Amino acid sequence: MKGFCEECRDYVDFTIEEVKRDKEIRGISIEYTAKIAFCDECTNELFVSELRDENLETINRNYRLTEGLIQVYEIGEVLEKYDIGKRPLSLILGWGEGTLSRYVDGDIPSRQYSDILKRLQTDFEFMLELLEKSKSKITERAYTNCLRAAQRNLENEKEMMAVFQSEEKIDSVVRYIIYKSVEITPLALQKLLYFSQSFYKAFTEKFLFDNDCGAWIHGPVYRNIYYKYKDHGYNPIDEDVDKFMNFDLTETEKTVIDTVLLNFGCYSGKILEYMTHAERPWRESRNGLEDSEVSDRIIEKELIEFYYKEVLGKYNMINISDIRDYSTDLFRKIQRSS
Ligand SMILES: [Zn+2]
Repeated sequence: MKGFCEECRDYVDFTIEEVKRDKEIRGISIEYTAKIAFCDECTNELFVSELRDENLETINRNYRLTEGLIQVYEIGEVLEKYDIGKRPLSLILGWGEGTLSRYVDGDIPSRQYSDILKRLQTDFEFMLELLEKSKSKITERAYTNCLRAAQRNLENEKEMMAVFQSEEKIDSVVRYIIYKSVEITPLALQKLLYFSQSFYKAFTEKFLFDNDCGAWIHGPVYRNIYYKYKDHGYNPIDEDVDKFMNFDLTETEKTVIDTVLLNFGCYSGKILEYMTHAERPWRESRNGLEDSEVSDRIIEKELIEFYYKEVLGKYNMINISDIRDYSTDLFRKIQRSS
């Protein structure tokens, strides 16, 4: 790609650099990172229309961020969410019929108009109200499509609220693990929960969730989660978790779970089961039981806490990423014993 350099009076190669710039819009100074082309021959700044357009978009976006105005792409999302066109929505809102077209092309809405569009992002009942009031302004078809979409949004929202309200912390962790795993069986899920809980306690002094863990024949098991997924047997859990992308988890909690998945999630459920069989908490909890003896004994939290504190010291773990040494060691151990 070449650009015209005024100094060299010729088409030249150029290099694009990112430069901090300011631009005043409507009396407000907007800081932005501009992409500027410099001539490779004389280092003079060049005019490149594509870069100008890109910079204008950046300024526009930053201005909206600073002023709390709706972004262009968000307006697009609103139209999609309600399955409605720019013109009919403009009419429903009582605006000029070309208003939303201009906004989608990049015109900046006034605060009042922006606030209404923002409200439409999440307030589906507000949309339903507007729709009923302005029914006569749009075609029957536009009305029906929008009505259906708004009702569907409202239902999804209610469903999601119900899920969140009835959810325990462990459910959030489960959903997150399923969401992050390419493929996961109920057996593997149980063990990954157990390792997440144990390492979270070891590194932060707190347990990730309150639930007690059973010392079952096939290793540590969280009973309520077992019953929730037992129909999958040894098959991967194919639950559609993408629908609920909100997890009630802090960044630290996510980091610990991510690291457990990275270092233990690569093993099959059966391997993970053998790993937990090699650890003291499960073995001690099943003291005196036959290998195949069903039991409702739990693995006491203190046992987990004490054991993993020891692991932390023994492996000189400082960062959560250090758990790698432990998982590879466990893996070697069970290979030797089988
Ligand atoms: Zn030049």
